Amino acid sequence: MATGNLIVLTGPSGVGKGTILRSLLQRHPDLYLSTSVTTRTPRPGEVHGKHYYFVTRAEFDRMVVNNELLEWAEFAGNCYGTPRRPVEEQIRRGRWVVLEIELEGARQIRRTFPEALRIFILPPSMPELEYRLRSRGQDSEEAITRRLKRAQAEVDAADEFDIQVINDDLDKALERIETVLFAPVGV
Ligand code: ADP
Ligand code: 5GP
Repeated sequence: MATGNLIVLTGPSGVGKGTILRSLLQRHPDLYLSTSVTTRTPRPGEVHGKHYYFVTRAEFDRMVVNNELLEWAEFAGNCYGTPRRPVEEQIRRGRWVVLEIELEGARQIRRTFPEALRIFILPPSMPELEYRLRSRGQDSEEAITRRLKRAQAEVDAADEFDIQVINDDLDKALERIETVLFAPVGV
């Protein structure tokens, strides 16, 4: 595996980050996926403590003030952040930790963990991204509009990342990510 201890996965909402991660974690259960806190309302089927820790804005603000978050950002009207303690503990134990976070958070991690491997997932096209967001069928029209508005700015920042992967064919995208993560050093 390449050197480092933190993997950051970023990309516009609906590009397939969650889908990619599910497969990646199934195939590599040794990876540790950080569970974020958010002020967003749970989607149907989302479980507190598994998909996110769902908190109030007051609880979120308290975590920020107490320096309990490694990074945090506001996205499409809600706050999201990475709890610091579990991530630092897993890294200390030598485990690779994966953060699935948006652009502003990824920029913060670049400053605090310059050795992190940062991967950006791109859609094959913007119409395909919109199609995926809509076909997921889990966000309101207002939420979809906000996410699409943000998507172009995120895609424009893809070059800031170490690696860009287009999620057109899911298996090929996974293969590319696995090659980057598990290639012998020097290859
Ligand atoms: P994100 O976590 O980036 O917001 P999701 O993983 O929820 O995105 O995926 C959004 C939608 O796109 C889902 O309905 C998912 O099944 C679909 N999707 C993901 N990857 C692909 C792909 N390679 N080709 C077609 N559809 C995909
Ligand atoms: P969603 O509401 O679709 O679950 O997530 C919206 C966006 O927030 C996604 O781009 C996701 O990657 C990002 N996100 C999830 N958790 C965090 C986090 O802890 N920090 C930051 N900065 N972004 C996050």
